[in-house]
Amino acid sequence: MIKKRKLLLINPLSTKRDGLIRDQSSIYPPLALGIVAALTPDHWDVELLDENFERFTYREADLVGITALTSQVTRAYEVASVYREKGIPIVMGGIHVSVMPEEAEQYADAIVIGEAESIWTVVIEDFEKDQLKKRYNGQSMPLVESPQPRTDLYHSGYAFGSVQTTRGCPMSCDFCSVHTFNGKKYRFRPVKDVVDEFEKIPQQNVYIVDDNLIGYSKKSAERVVEICKEIIRRGIKKDWLCAASMNVAEHDEALQAMAEAGCKMIFLGIESELIEQLELTNKRMNVKIGTDHFDEVYQKIHAHGIAVLGAFIFGLDTDTPETMANRTQYMINADIDAMQASILTPLPGTPLFNRMKAEGRLVHNHFPEDWSRYDFVEVVFQPTGMSPQALTAEIKKNWALLYDDKNLKRKFMNALKKSRNAEAALWSYNSNVHYYNLVFEGERDHKVIKDHIF
Ligand code: SF4
Repeated sequence: MIKKRKLLLINPLSTKRDGLIRDQSSIYPPLALGIVAALTPDHWDVELLDENFERFTYREADLVGITALTSQVTRAYEVASVYREKGIPIVMGGIHVSVMPEEAEQYADAIVIGEAESIWTVVIEDFEKDQLKKRYNGQSMPLVESPQPRTDLYHSGYAFGSVQTTRGCPMSCDFCSVHTFNGKKYRFRPVKDVVDEFEKIPQQNVYIVDDNLIGYSKKSAERVVEICKEIIRRGIKKDWLCAASMNVAEHDEALQAMAEAGCKMIFLGIESELIEQLELTNKRMNVKIGTDHFDEVYQKIHAHGIAVLGAFIFGLDTDTPETMANRTQYMINADIDAMQASILTPLPGTPLFNRMKAEGRLVHNHFPEDWSRYDFVEVVFQPTGMSPQALTAEIKKNWALLYDDKNLKRKFMNALKKSRNAEAALWSYNSNVHYYNLVFEGERDHKVIKDHIF
């Protein structure tokens, strides 16, 4: 019998995280590696080493694959160097590698730029012929050919399963690299593939990882209805969370179907309550809806028994201590149940990064070591009108107010009243606890995720 070759896939954990992740509901299985594993031929054994659960220790392999977001890439390069020293070929891919190929090439034998589906089998064939190339360019293919990920390789400790139904975004927000990596075309997976995969997820809770489940057309909203109706028809009873643009409120039928199919909370990238800041960040959909109508969006979502997770940014170029304090009051007073308030982060591959780099405003620019700081909870740039330290102090003050115990309980009661759905309210409460733990990691006692409240 021919001995199988071994592919080791590694999900690196940012060097900034001091221990393994404490809050299992804040992490999701590494979908991209599950897809790469599924594309790997049967005459290979595939092992997944997931640093969310297990610190990296050296293990034998014929070929190693690593994918990383920017904040994970420092660690990815560390691990890659272990294998390079031993002469074991290493292939790197993912969003950071795709936008910083010259950097990544210094740490890998081969890199994959773009989506892996179109090219992974070629990488494997080249390796088997001992002809691995330095660089592979993946194309953004129609998602009809996307395989079901090898979920059997995921660690059983994940509290959430994950599934992707679309890729790409036609928008071009200043701070976002999705359109750079996944392209501007909004691509759908077939409804059957999505629901088949959804049904097989062992966890009760699911994160639909799409950047925007609802999309920007009637057709895309109808597709959401189709997916939800198929979930209901098959009797699948799972609870889930997704992200959507604010125009989700224009699609009553989709919201109703989502609620009936188990949606508990929708993540909205609101960013700011000020129209001029939305224009500044090129958040076109929110500008189009108009800040005066944001309350109607929250009401619509609540009316279907779904909680609202509002994501905001601190540290925009026109932010002052006053505008940030006002944003905090807005988040506290508006009918937003879970509040995510992250720090503006110039990720490579975004217009924001290119501009700040050209202006000499990246204060943490000792790369690749400093990439681990690009995690949305640290100021990595020179703000306008104050020092990075002053901005950090202001933001911490705002976080303390947002995630104060009394406020979180009040938010829970409000979510319960507005959504009339105890589970949705509990999801929003736990999401707030998760953000508190994330932003104050190592500085304050962790708050505890609850199965029930009070
Ligand atoms: S933030 Fe959302 S809407 Fe804007 S470009 Fe990224 S994915 Fe698209």
